Amino acid sequence: MSMFDDIPVEVGVIYEGERIRWSDTQVELGGPRETHKFELVKVRGLNEIEDGVVNIIGKDLGNMESGRSYPFGILIEVAGKEVEQDLEGVIERRIHEYINFIEGFMHLNQRYDIHLRLSKKAFEKGFNSFSLVGKILERLYKSEMPFIEKIQITFMTDPEKVANTFVEAEATYEARDAKARGMKDEEADAFYGCTLCQSFAPTHCCVITPQRYSNCGAISWFDGRAAARIDPKGPLFTIEKGECVDPWRGEYTGANEVVKEKSLGAIERVWFYTAFGYPHTSCGCFEGLAFYIPEVDGFGLVYRDFKGATINGLPFATMADSTAGGRQVDGFHGVSIEYLRSPKLLQADGGWNRIVWMPSNIRDRVKDFIPIDVVDKIATEKDVENIPQLKDFLTSKNHPVVEKWVAEEEVVEEATPQEAAEVVLQQTLSPSLSGLPLTTSSFTIILKDAKIVAKKLIIRREKREGT
Ligand code: SF4
Repeated sequence: MSMFDDIPVEVGVIYEGERIRWSDTQVELGGPRETHKFELVKVRGLNEIEDGVVNIIGKDLGNMESGRSYPFGILIEVAGKEVEQDLEGVIERRIHEYINFIEGFMHLNQRYDIHLRLSKKAFEKGFNSFSLVGKILERLYKSEMPFIEKIQITFMTDPEKVANTFVEAEATYEARDAKARGMKDEEADAFYGCTLCQSFAPTHCCVITPQRYSNCGAISWFDGRAAARIDPKGPLFTIEKGECVDPWRGEYTGANEVVKEKSLGAIERVWFYTAFGYPHTSCGCFEGLAFYIPEVDGFGLVYRDFKGATINGLPFATMADSTAGGRQVDGFHGVSIEYLRSPKLLQADGGWNRIVWMPSNIRDRVKDFIPIDVVDKIATEKDVENIPQLKDFLTSKNHPVVEKWVAEEEVVEEATPQEAAEVVLQQTLSPSLSGLPLTTSSFTIILKDAKIVAKKLIIRREKREGT
């Protein structure tokens, strides 16, 4: 049932997760076809904004050509005696949730990377103006965040206005992110959790620490603290650290307890700083992901905006499917760009010494945070196109992983075959090999206390009768 009588489509939580295909799309706002798109929340003084005003700069929904994409910006200005600047990021992240409540309106991603679609069906029902979106946002914000006393919303589709305000938005994001840099997990009195993405990934819970930014890249430790203070029972909450069980992998008893509770027992442990064992879960909103490349025993990094195939031949979207869903998948790990600036980035796996490939634009963005002796040893799409070329590149640059290859080869040569003490064959839906899921097989083979030396490994697809 709709929440509002004066809105021509339904509005409610059941529409969260609704996907709108291109063929059903009336208009697309932002998204991969547009360079400039953003959403931004700014805290203003109580006398600086007018409550309930919705501005539209550029074409409104009803005047847009059907089946086209447009540059797009949303600026939400809020004021209130209790509204502090640290809440900007948290209020901004709610845009994703609230717009997804609207039947026939889809919102993906965050900040500079938003991607919205309005369905033809919703448009035909009369949902044809941003003023309707503004009304819904205003009402939801005021009811869910009563500390917001005034709210003024501006939608922008004029290309020049979007491009100019985009610059201001980027400066704001950078200032927010920079605030937590330099602070250590050990110095924090608590961590913060977020379950906003559980509508898409029911077992996912972000644990936000000073050195592990949220997967979406939109919520910092300071944002989490501000949100938990003002609305402790909300989707952002305090996590008491408890005991640090493993500082290297980043395991805390307090985080384990909360993640277990919030995932309804599906996730029992979480290690913040590794992509293996009990890695932090990934919802689907991650800005990018780290993927293990078994051929070189290193990691690649790829981001949502990277077009085409990565070094392992798979595009971002394919690997995102393997990573998302609130699961712990060995070798696939959702990350934000800000997390790349953390000294604890995948520290238990070797950190930057284990990163072998990443898109050049991201490398340039975080260059100052990559150790100087590794930065030029990481290949990009401009250097190599496939795994054999990557191997040659890493060898020629003497990347730190090369040393591991040599050490591992020596161990293999020295090893003598031994009898397996225990072999377990177990039927499962998503088995894995070297951390990579195999979707065509139907068994996981677990060998305990075994060393196997083989000259060749042959994997054959079984032929079944009648197929
Ligand atoms: S990715 Fe994490 S922090 Fe960001 S909205 Fe989702 S659950 Fe919250």
